[in-house]
Amino acid sequence: MTPSFIDSHAHLSEESTFSHVDQVLERAKACGISAVVNICTDAQSLKNGLALAERYPWVYNAASTTPHDAAKEGEALFPFMAEHAHNGSLVAVGETGLDYFHWKDSAEDQKKLLRRYLQLALECHLPVVIHCRDAFADFFEILDQEYVCHGKHAPGVLHCFTGTCEEAEQVLKRGWYLSLSGIVTFKKSTALQAVAKMTPLNQLLIETDSPWLAPQSQRGRTNEPAFLPEIAQCIAHLKGLTLSEVAAATADNARRLFNF
Ligand SMILES: [Zn+2]
Repeated sequence: MTPSFIDSHAHLSEESTFSHVDQVLERAKACGISAVVNICTDAQSLKNGLALAERYPWVYNAASTTPHDAAKEGEALFPFMAEHAHNGSLVAVGETGLDYFHWKDSAEDQKKLLRRYLQLALECHLPVVIHCRDAFADFFEILDQEYVCHGKHAPGVLHCFTGTCEEAEQVLKRGWYLSLSGIVTFKKSTALQAVAKMTPLNQLLIETDSPWLAPQSQRGRTNEPAFLPEIAQCIAHLKGLTLSEVAAATADNARRLFNF
């Protein structure tokens, strides 16, 4: 039997994918993808995502502006994103977070917006999806201040994790999930492969982050959820598990985190 996988992070509303999304989802289904969390990053992508979820009940939406857009349109878009977080049409708030690798200039705006989205997630009892690059110290500081409920961190996932084993430890000890993308399949990703080995199976998610970051055998192509099994296979190999074990555990984890 083909294992069943959940893609915990894909951008189906991106124009390069949305223009032929029916074929993309058909191929995903044929490869055993049983659910996709569609990450919406602006008003149009959220509208696209909501329309898509009407037609495909196995597509679930998450939304917020990204660190990239924090300065430019973070304030303006917050009410629209918040309205949908409150009305039950989202399974998560995100991807929000901090990225000092690409956009250090807007660090203050990013931090401010991250705090607001963490508060929103707490209010709505939704998990958060976090993008964090070269900003772990500030991220953990904000998380510990804003996102604790009854002495415990509220739930979330560090998506497309590319940090060190020490940073992974910090994520895991807060009870969070860590999500690995196609980057783990690249030959040069030895540090990330070490992270895959040390992450407990019950805190691991897998994602394509499509249309970006196609895994090793598809490099140069537009990524899509159908390429997810290659990522699971790589992790299975690293951890000495079967593909079915990785598929089942990561799918269970996604259902537990996103409540579907
Ligand atoms: Zn993303």
